[in-house]
Amino acid sequence: MENHTSRSDETALTGRKALIIGCGIVGPATALFLRRAGINATIYEAQSEPADYAGLFLNTAANGVSVLKTLGLEGAVSAQGFPARRMVFANGSLKHLGEVRNGAEGHPGVVIKRGLLTRTIRDEALRQGIPVQFGKKLKEIRIGGAHPVTACFADGTEATGDFLVGCDGIHSRTRQLIFPHAPQPSYTGMLSCGGMPQDATAPPTPGTMQMIFGKQAFFGYLVKPTGEAYWFSNVAWPGEPDREAFRATTSEEWRQRLLALHRDDAPLIAQMIRATTGEIGVYPIYDIPSQPAWHKGPVVLVGDAVHAVSPHAGQGASMALEDAIVLAKCLRDIPDLAQAFARYQALRRGRAEKVVAASRRTGQTKVASTAMARWCRDLLMPVFLGLFANSRSNDWVYSYTVPWDEKVSV
Ligand SMILES: Cc1cc2nc3c(=O)[nH]c(=O)nc-3n(C[C@H](O)[C@H](O)[C@H](O)COP(=O)(O)OP(=O)(O)OC[C@H]3O[C@@H](n4cnc5c(N)ncnc54)[C@H](O)[C@@H]3O)c2cc1C
Repeated sequence: MENHTSRSDETALTGRKALIIGCGIVGPATALFLRRAGINATIYEAQSEPADYAGLFLNTAANGVSVLKTLGLEGAVSAQGFPARRMVFANGSLKHLGEVRNGAEGHPGVVIKRGLLTRTIRDEALRQGIPVQFGKKLKEIRIGGAHPVTACFADGTEATGDFLVGCDGIHSRTRQLIFPHAPQPSYTGMLSCGGMPQDATAPPTPGTMQMIFGKQAFFGYLVKPTGEAYWFSNVAWPGEPDREAFRATTSEEWRQRLLALHRDDAPLIAQMIRATTGEIGVYPIYDIPSQPAWHKGPVVLVGDAVHAVSPHAGQGASMALEDAIVLAKCLRDIPDLAQAFARYQALRRGRAEKVVAASRRTGQTKVASTAMARWCRDLLMPVFLGLFANSRSNDWVYSYTVPWDEKVSV
């Protein structure tokens, strides 16, 4: 009761209204932090209902888990996910090549189904009374007039606010509308395929993601103590995929292609692919290496909408969560909207671009196309991984924290 009163008072003081476009990962997280900053937000999502089974699984790295902790959601996410403190690498014959930490000492990443992560954050937003409207696909944005910003939706309805936050993912309509000439998402030349086998075909991998440099494709998997397993395969696919042709390809056809690509690798890979009798997800991998401006007038971009990260670094969700808390702090502490957005961009852009570039570099090491390249990799990788095993060279990614109470200045 006391909390409720103090939040209302803050809102009355701040009195601004935000339109949030997209209820994926960063949309509800941004709404929750804005609420703490005393700003009311409504979330508008294009899907007609929650898509809790869309997508496969993702890593929420230690830096993302730290943001979830600030939202009080760390426990719920860890309980539903799989805390993975290390990644162990092998070649296609399962010869051990080395291992690296996934996170900082004592702060593992959490691998979780994407749907469970989005649902957990969205449910918290709903629990705190943040309205979420489904079936609201952003079509146009009007700036100025009777209200600072108006969102126009495909169903003919409109919503007005003081500012609009584009949380609408890599193919962001918000970005296209405010920056029609902005760089397009860039295709990385790889596909990410994956699934969840119906039967456990390998022993549990406590706290560990197993990574295998196969002869023709890269394979990663984990098996929970319950036997539930997740796997992915990264496949080189030169030339931008034809979306229609991809949609027309059945899971059975992908299964056969993946079995062929992994035919010379350890049998457990084929066993896992065969045991996946349900859908095999296939996603062409894109990223956004650099976006010159992150805001325009009363509109600002966050998450994949402005800096989509390829999945190789396991940072997509975490970078988006970092954006959410930093943006809300800027709006809390800097009264002028343009200055707040500029500060948010200044605090986030360099780090995001560095992570996007690092992730793309990691992806390029995953597939060696010749026998000689594979031989060199198997020789050098243990040395390289040995150097990394206990080094703190990735601490700049994982140890990044954003204390909510620390003030932001212009
Ligand atoms: C269906 C789906 C499956 C995914 N699967 C994986 C995966 O298996 N592994 C992985 O690492 N990453 C996956 N991702 C990407 C990952 O979730 C994001 O990289 C990351 O977490 C950043 O989150 P985000 O909130 O910025 O974007 P997203 O999570 O992509 O959320 C964007 C939201 O905006 C909505 N939206 C889009 N356009 C409009 C519009 N015009 N109007 C209103 N709403 C709109 C979308 O429906 C979506 O709910 C997936 C994303 C999606 C959308």
